[in-house]
Amino acid sequence: MAKVRLEEIKRRFNNVTAIEDISFEIPDGEFWVLVGPSGCGKSTILRTIAGLETATSGKLFIGDRLMNNIPARQRDVAMVFQNYALYPHMTVAENIAFGLQMRKVDAKLIQERVATVARSLSLEHLLDRKPKQLSGGQQQRVALGRAIAREPQVFLLDEPLSNLDAQLRDDTRAELKQLHQELGITTVYVTHDQVEAMTLADKIVVLNRGRIQQIGEPQSIYAFPANQMVATFLGNPPMNILSAKYTNDGFDVGEQLIAVPEIIREKLQLRPGQNYDLGIRPEHISINEPQRRREHGEEEVGELVVEVKVVEPLGRETLIRASLPGSTVLLNVQLGGNVRVNVGDRLSLQLDLTQLF
Ligand code: ADP
Repeated sequence: MAKVRLEEIKRRFNNVTAIEDISFEIPDGEFWVLVGPSGCGKSTILRTIAGLETATSGKLFIGDRLMNNIPARQRDVAMVFQNYALYPHMTVAENIAFGLQMRKVDAKLIQERVATVARSLSLEHLLDRKPKQLSGGQQQRVALGRAIAREPQVFLLDEPLSNLDAQLRDDTRAELKQLHQELGITTVYVTHDQVEAMTLADKIVVLNRGRIQQIGEPQSIYAFPANQMVATFLGNPPMNILSAKYTNDGFDVGEQLIAVPEIIREKLQLRPGQNYDLGIRPEHISINEPQRRREHGEEEVGELVVEVKVVEPLGRETLIRASLPGSTVLLNVQLGGNVRVNVGDRLSLQLDLTQLF
């Protein structure tokens, strides 16, 4: 096991800068996830750590050793790809053993190691099969097994779950987390899936256009996103962004006024006449009781009236897409027993203004 440190790593391909100014240090044994939209530079960073890519400038350390000029083979890292890359003519046992055989490890030791790995990944009953006789999930477990068997210093995983169907992906994700807890190998995991990032990571590195946007623990990034890209990328369903103009009375949004209490005005240091992008997560919006609005007969603080466009029941919660002129609002609510929301309904929403970005 080892820490991994990147110092101002940059990679250019001809005149395209794929990644720039990439610096972070992963402490020994931690599980870090690189996340961001397609093309943001995740794989380039991972491949640079693996030695499959050469940095144009900057330094890479594994442990205390400068790795820039060390070939991939000598880096003691194991990489798992999304397409598994198993040897088709070898059995599961032979696939798992391969890396150890290449290193001329003692045959008896290899046998023991294969047995241990197979046990920890529930592959014991499949050891004599060839890859094409396995399901996608089983193949991916073999690919993981092959990587683990070598007991590398660092584990590099590039979208390892993306070829699995939904249920299997959830199960394998949980297995991966458990495996990391058992083995404690420093891990760098690349994904574009924010759920994987949130659930697996000790720390998340959010990337966009080749640059780091934010590094932090999942909950802390979720609660305190550094910018609008991070705010809208992490969270499912995503954060709502409403275009608004602040006047003395409140936010002018889609021809409505959202009244804002003084405490929030001060907290956000709002300036009259200024345009704002307001961010609010779907779980921070609720539906007002119809009678409450009638009783007061006036606009409530944080109230917004919308028209329902789509209703998606998710079991415990219901996802509602609603619109107002110029914007769409997503809310994720638990509807009481006999409450029905229908397409075309006009709803009075309550925004929790303390949760406004
Ligand atoms: P991600 O893994 O986040 O999808 P990549 O690291 O694969 O992103 O790519 C980052 C950027 O670098 C993209 O714009 C991509 O087109 C470019 N890129 C990656 N590899 C090469 C290459 N071998 N030649 C030219 N451009 C590349």
